[in-house]
Amino acid sequence: MRHQTSLKPTNNLPVTREVQLRQSITLDDKLKFGARQDVQTFTSWEAPIMWEGVFDPLLYDQKHLQLQSSVALTVFAVGRYLDAYLKTFLTSAEKHFMLGLPVAYYVFTDLPEKVPHIELAPQRSLKVIQVKKYSRWQDISMMRMKMISEVIESEIRHHFKYVFCFDVDQEFQGRFGSEALGASVALLHAHFYKLPKDRFTYDRNPKSKAFMETGDFYYHAAVFGGLWENVKKLADACYLGIMEDKLNDVEALWHDESHLNKYFWLHKPSKILSPEYCWDKRIADKSAIVITRLVWAPKHYDTLRTP
Ligand code: UDP
Ligand code: UDP
Ligand code: MN
Repeated sequence: MRHQTSLKPTNNLPVTREVQLRQSITLDDKLKFGARQDVQTFTSWEAPIMWEGVFDPLLYDQKHLQLQSSVALTVFAVGRYLDAYLKTFLTSAEKHFMLGLPVAYYVFTDLPEKVPHIELAPQRSLKVIQVKKYSRWQDISMMRMKMISEVIESEIRHHFKYVFCFDVDQEFQGRFGSEALGASVALLHAHFYKLPKDRFTYDRNPKSKAFMETGDFYYHAAVFGGLWENVKKLADACYLGIMEDKLNDVEALWHDESHLNKYFWLHKPSKILSPEYCWDKRIADKSAIVITRLVWAPKHYDTLRTP
């Protein structure tokens, strides 16, 4: 169903980065888009939507091992979010996130000495980066884009092919593996994937850089990723939009998430993760959810977001 004859691997070339990428692209051709009749499994621009049943996990693992794919994960645990969520996030990631591939956790916090000690499997590492604590939670959330761009530039780009960026208030409960890797990866928001577009909570203020009249999907900013080059572009664009809004004295409705949605409207993701990759267990209609890979942790905004 995809038209990409020009992207077939070229066997007589040395394994350059480009060839490696082409080989990984051919993987998505093996998806069984019809295996799930109850949900949308590809987009109008032919990006796959990864639902349980459409992909063969072993195939992805073999291919990414062969390509020596490596993954950096960024996560922020500032203020009270550290005690509340970080340990569960990290210990559960050790059980489910990209097993078999080299993984580096980049933990951003204002409290480096309080980061829990976690036993890491071989080929996995953790680095703590100290950040200042903005007084408004909206700024803590939004300024992640700046920090992500900086750490990609200073470190990640030299050692890792992919970057995934996560909220900390979640727990891995099932495989979150190499099938999620792609050039530019967005996540369908669990509360919106069944709703019509007119219910999407895009920013509707024309004065904001995040303003959108319509879009494709409502994406959740709790998980996004891709090749480091693409994640850097996304983070830079969102940060620029956030700062322009500040100069103009406006703030997008859902902060960094509004800017992320605008970015993915203008720059279509090459792969989309179903809400199985970030599920809220309070949602009553679970009919499409075959497996929960990552779930929202309970939110206690009243106590956690106060300084
Ligand atoms: N965050 C943080 N400390 C804060 C507020 C936010 O570390 O005081 C980070 C944390 O990684 C969190 C993310 O920013 O998961 C987004 O904030 P939150 O999860 O509260 O937003 P929501 O999921 O409600 O959109
Ligand atoms: N691509 C393309 N033509 C195609 C399919 C993909 O030019 O028919 C490009 C696409 O723009 C993206 C990259 O190849 O930058 C990877 O696309 P794909 O959706 O296959 O990404 P994957 O998730 O496999 O990495
Ligand atoms: Mn969150």
